[in-house]
Amino acid sequence: MSEDIEANAMDSLADMPFATVDIKDDCEIPDVPQISLERSKENERIDKDQKKKRKKKQKDYQPNYFLSIPITSKEITRGIKILQNAIIEQDKQLAKAMISDGSFHVTLLVMQLLNEDEVYNGIDALLGLKPFVEEILQGKHLTLPFQGVDTFGNQVGFVKLADGDHVSPLLQIAEAAKRTFQEKGILAGESRGFKPHLTFMKLSKVPWLRKKGVKKIDPELYEKFISHRFGEEVVHRIDLCSMLKKKQSNGYYHCESSIVIGKKPIGIRDLINEALCRERMGLKSKVKQIKELLLKPETQAKIRRELFEGRSINSSNQGNDVDVSATLT
Ligand code: AMP
Repeated sequence: MSEDIEANAMDSLADMPFATVDIKDDCEIPDVPQISLERSKENERIDKDQKKKRKKKQKDYQPNYFLSIPITSKEITRGIKILQNAIIEQDKQLAKAMISDGSFHVTLLVMQLLNEDEVYNGIDALLGLKPFVEEILQGKHLTLPFQGVDTFGNQVGFVKLADGDHVSPLLQIAEAAKRTFQEKGILAGESRGFKPHLTFMKLSKVPWLRKKGVKKIDPELYEKFISHRFGEEVVHRIDLCSMLKKKQSNGYYHCESSIVIGKKPIGIRDLINEALCRERMGLKSKVKQIKELLLKPETQAKIRRELFEGRSINSSNQGNDVDVSATLT
């Protein structure tokens, strides 16, 4: 994903989640026939202000995190490696455009998380997504079959998700994810809509290829795989991943948190990670409460008073302890 940051800047406003928002929805000018000149000027100014603010928000929106369904099926991975090698055999320059097998995934949602607090908010949103996913799946597995190859504008090569009953729950999960994250105030999603796909190559990974005349992925390169069945992935995890942080040693993205879903027997590591994550969230919120309490002027006055009284008492009894817990309650 990280290689796309620059290329994505080109997508700019049209691809931003706010591009479809009609300013009129938020800043409706009432249909009053005898509106005074002054009021209409005022409304014009508000309208301009709103447009300016919205444009700035759109410009500032640069996704740096995403929700990922990791591809763990050996059959799929093997099939994609064969496809990649077949393409490289035809054009060696394309080797660097290939996605490494450790990082195969299906992106559910992209978002922007700019600091530690926003990342924690994202982790919280991911945990909040789990019951919605469970409700959508109703205890059933979600199995994703992959078949055939296509491209986005001949720039991004991907393995297609086959048609079938799995599409509806997957779209519902993506929708629930977008809603859950946006309701937490997180800038998330894209206006172009969700098209599930499994990327195996991107020309944007090798910018110098353009200068060498390679501007498109030639469909002939993958024609033998046009209806190839790559296999199925049983979804058992959704990860909150960074596009920019250093990848893990296994080639997969840096992962802030995960939720385990579906009935597939899962590793003890997944369960421990999820439990640790909940624990971390609980601690984080307690530390935040303590910080807020310590910053209150009345708490600081109380501490100062206790310290002062403590000092005057201690000067007579040689002790210097302050009961902070009593101070804070
Ligand atoms: P991903 O598989 O999520 O890493 O995405 C690979 C690339 O495909 C990124 O550059 C995305 O911006 C691009 N992409 C994802 N969805 C679409 C879409 N519906 N239309 C065009 N490009 C897309």
